Amino acid sequence: MRALGVVPGKADSASIVELPEPSTVEGSVLVRGRRIGICGTDAEILYDGYGTIPEGADLLVLGHESLGEVIEAPADSGLVAGDLVVGIVRRPDPVPCICCARGEWDMCRNGRFVEHGILGAPGYGSERWRIAPEYAVKVDTELGELGVLLEPASVLAKAWEQVERIGARACFEPEVAVITGAGPVGLLAALLARQRGLETWVLDIVAQGAKPELVADLGATYSNVPASQLPVRPDIVIECTGLGPVLTEVIASAAPNAVIALAGVSHHEHPVATDLAKINRQLVLTNQVIFGTVNAARRHYEQAARALAMADSSWLHRMITRQVPLADWPAALNKSAEDIKVIVKLDDTP
Ligand code: BGC
Repeated sequence: MRALGVVPGKADSASIVELPEPSTVEGSVLVRGRRIGICGTDAEILYDGYGTIPEGADLLVLGHESLGEVIEAPADSGLVAGDLVVGIVRRPDPVPCICCARGEWDMCRNGRFVEHGILGAPGYGSERWRIAPEYAVKVDTELGELGVLLEPASVLAKAWEQVERIGARACFEPEVAVITGAGPVGLLAALLARQRGLETWVLDIVAQGAKPELVADLGATYSNVPASQLPVRPDIVIECTGLGPVLTEVIASAAPNAVIALAGVSHHEHPVATDLAKINRQLVLTNQVIFGTVNAARRHYEQAARALAMADSSWLHRMITRQVPLADWPAALNKSAEDIKVIVKLDDTP
């Protein structure tokens, strides 16, 4: 069967590789791969050497944003042939640490977890894959190929859950959310903000095209100005760029008691001089919280599945700006300025 193969850090290594059929050791559920979403992490794996090849292998199968269709599953798995499923990315460390032991592998403490398609475990970018039922998340069949948005949405579902848990430390009635970055992550963050009824602002440098339109169609406001020039001060920030100058602006703009989630990393170097003592003074004197968030536990995938099912499917479809057939998959890595989410079609289903 064909698969998406890469060697981390080798820019010209993206290719189609022939692999044996997946072994039953990998799980009792056999899945036909349908779609793979490509994100910044995949580019980072290829160009910057993030990610690791599984032990004993000579390449990494890419694809952590998955969508597949069950071919066969055991009777007690809760899955039947034809179900659409997404594979969970991270797997608990072998010790396991106290977090992994309770299914919170997204909070792993010892760093010995693996991530399918990223760190030490093959991704879902193959024509068939196997998975244990507990790591397969069922997606509403009506979502169809939009199920490929579940993994990125799970990362945002976690970010929002964490914001709300932190907010619950005291009186918290947020009104305004500012999202920095209008890529797929920022747009999904904005979708979840609007589903919570918040006045939502999305900041990005792009001035026209699909991004501002998608934001407007959510009932949110799109802006190109730095956060400090907005007419609002956010109670909640979901920072999705990881860029120093953007971070500096948005942190400075936050309202008293604000909860600021850092959900993005950048491989671009934009060093800014940071006066940590000044930020400290602001956080202390106004009870603000800045926290980082990565990955997702199973409950976040389930939260995300509900959020996607509630969303306007035509809006979600417009996030997918390009579909690349498996035979040309390396083309999916070259994102154009107009691209939002690019996906690889592992099969020919519409
Ligand atoms: C993935 C996460 C993963 C993170 C760090 C992101 O692109 O969506 O599941 O934990 O990269 O490897």
